[in-house]
Amino acid sequence: MDSQEITLIGIPLEAGAGRRGCVMGPDALRAAGLAETLATLGHHVTDRGNIAPGPAPEIAVPGKANDAGLLAAWVRAIDKAANEANNDALPVFMGGDHALAIGSINAMNCRARDAGRPLHVLWLDAHTDFNTPATSPSGNIHGMPVAALTGEPGLDWLFDNVARAPVPPGNIHQLGIRSVDAVERALVIERGIDVMDMRRIDETGISRLLAGVLETVAARDAMLHVSLDVDFLAPEIAPGVGTAVPGGATYREAHLVMEILSDSGLVTSLDLVELNPFLDDRGRSAILLSELTASLFGRRIIDRAR
Ligand code: MG
Ligand code: MG
Repeated sequence: MDSQEITLIGIPLEAGAGRRGCVMGPDALRAAGLAETLATLGHHVTDRGNIAPGPAPEIAVPGKANDAGLLAAWVRAIDKAANEANNDALPVFMGGDHALAIGSINAMNCRARDAGRPLHVLWLDAHTDFNTPATSPSGNIHGMPVAALTGEPGLDWLFDNVARAPVPPGNIHQLGIRSVDAVERALVIERGIDVMDMRRIDETGISRLLAGVLETVAARDAMLHVSLDVDFLAPEIAPGVGTAVPGGATYREAHLVMEILSDSGLVTSLDLVELNPFLDDRGRSAILLSELTASLFGRRIIDRAR
């Protein structure tokens, strides 16, 4: 892989999650050596440090949406940081809970729109994150980013004073899904999100499923944002997450996904989210996330002739 400009943006957001601890995520990734590992691969890495939200507006939301004003302030801060990042650099959004993707993906979609290209999203997660304040059992906004990004009603307040570009549901490819609320399930199917659950991974193989996504992305000359939730992974290899679900991607499947993405050369931005160092086991999950990112940016066991 050619040398690349990479900008790390720390987003210590945890208000979208039901459990505290994601606030430490960006620093755990730093302690795991993420920047140094990427630099070793020949990339030019700039760590912009952690960002913080401005004052939270008062927002009354019908239904359940915890810390609504604070989340809107975070989306605005993430949008600002994404827009300040060098356009030639590949941004890595280090979370922080998955609600940060509302800001990162919206900003990347605006960037794609300005470039006259579509944006596709590879959503690696146990969950579809397609709840709304009307459907969410918990009100936790980290369960709503995909609904917000695709323009479901009841979530517009998240984009307070932010340029907006809704993502067509068919541009979102979800891999690793194995926990979906009942109402959410019906909505995801109705809207036409491309959901690839664990059964399809078992029956088809993760590399074939991913190849199909990448073919579409390449054919459309699209930008590709990867959003990696720690709970995509099996809890045995990545315990540092508040929403662990049994039966996730194995160590080998996860690295394979990253290596295939690296080979494709199509990835233009990345989220690393839901790392909860408070629940981790001696930094294992942080180190694994850092290693997976290294695979995405070109690390190989043995370089093979292609
Ligand atoms: Mg998620
Ligand atoms: Mg999840």
